[in-house]
Amino acid sequence: MDFELSEELKMLKEMAYRFAQAEFSGVSHECDEGEKYTAEIRKKAAENGLVGAWVPEEYGGPGAGILGNAIVTEELSKVDMGIGLNIVAATFGCEAIYDYGTEEQKKAYLPRVCSGEWVSAGAFTEPNAGTDVAGYKTRAVKDGDDYVINGNKMFITNATVCDFMVAQCITNPDQKKHNSFSLIIVPADAKGITRNKIHGKMGIRSSDTGEIAFEDVRVPQSNLVGVEGNGFRQLMHFFDTTRVMVAAQALGLSEACLDTCVKYVKERTAFGAPLGTYQLTQMKLTEMAIRIEALRGLVYKSAWLIDENRPDYTLAAMAKYFGGQTAVFCANAAVELHGGYGYIDEYAVQKWYRDAKILELYEGTKEAEIMTIGRVLQAR
Ligand SMILES: Cc1cc2nc3c(=O)[nH]c(=O)nc-3n(C[C@H](O)[C@H](O)[C@H](O)COP(=O)(O)OP(=O)(O)OC[C@H]3O[C@@H](n4cnc5c(N)ncnc54)[C@H](O)[C@@H]3O)c2cc1C
Repeated sequence: MDFELSEELKMLKEMAYRFAQAEFSGVSHECDEGEKYTAEIRKKAAENGLVGAWVPEEYGGPGAGILGNAIVTEELSKVDMGIGLNIVAATFGCEAIYDYGTEEQKKAYLPRVCSGEWVSAGAFTEPNAGTDVAGYKTRAVKDGDDYVINGNKMFITNATVCDFMVAQCITNPDQKKHNSFSLIIVPADAKGITRNKIHGKMGIRSSDTGEIAFEDVRVPQSNLVGVEGNGFRQLMHFFDTTRVMVAAQALGLSEACLDTCVKYVKERTAFGAPLGTYQLTQMKLTEMAIRIEALRGLVYKSAWLIDENRPDYTLAAMAKYFGGQTAVFCANAAVELHGGYGYIDEYAVQKWYRDAKILELYEGTKEAEIMTIGRVLQAR
């Protein structure tokens, strides 16, 4: 058993962190306040091999695997989770193309996203159905060689900045619910698409989130990803791997909270001694450290197993479930340890507290992860 990262992964980790410090720190506050998407930083990240780190070299990526991608995500999230998401979620949706797409689709989309030229989106959630994936209503009806798509998508990351999206649509309404869906690639500039940015998010405000409406949107049937009618199962499998990325975001944010607090409690004094000398302070730091260590184990192991072709998707769901709660716990403790200063936007912990909550919501709420894990435990 070897818990040591390879030399390549250590170098990638260091490089990703240095990149985030150099590129994010100076603009983090401004992008958070102004809800600014960071296209230039994403392009620079692509030049450094940080976009689509999981994409194999044959499709234009650096081929760092799911573990490499988790490590990049962790390091970027230590500095600014929103700007980091603009980099690591630039490929969001492409996982389905890689897993199920044709060779032509892989070659057409993956290299252009990894190079920084294009941005992808995964358009699944709808205004009336999020957790209930089988409740989506968007329809794709065959007409000649095309699909004609009608419906609405909600809370889509990269909605107004993407060049294409992978959308979940009902193609086989006469089949049982779980056999009625298909994933379809839709160019963002197709006629009949309306995209609106959602303003006023609590956190990750530099990430672009929006609504997408499809009104008689025509795409060729060759844009189908995988097998028609298999979209539900394909999407469930898609989340199996993307959950690891969200758990890695949680890991990075939690580590940043702990590091910042350790420094702060050594400097800040109360009752004539540094805060760190008090056992109640040590209790908070200790609980943060233990949860982070446990989370790192879950994230790295679930990522590594996927790279080893021995995936344990229940472990990935556990990483996502525990990750959200660890980040929320650590960000809360960080604000408390900073006292009143933690409540002011001059201190990063205030932003991290707002950013952390999304980790318990997107890519499956924590309740959805419980459903996934609970089902498997009883089926074993
Ligand atoms: C910033 C942001 C970015 C996002 N990015 C994307 C994206 O790129 N692509 C995309 O498709 N979606 C995206 N989402 C959507 C996100 O994945 C959904 O919001 C999430 O899955 C929850 O769905 P919902 O909002 O419809 O809540 P609902 O499904 O309505 O759930 C509401 C509450 O009920 C609970 N609940 C639901 N069913 C059950 C049950 N059976 N038992 C117990 N509790 C239950 C949920 O856990 C939750 O607490 C994003 C959301 C946000 C906020």
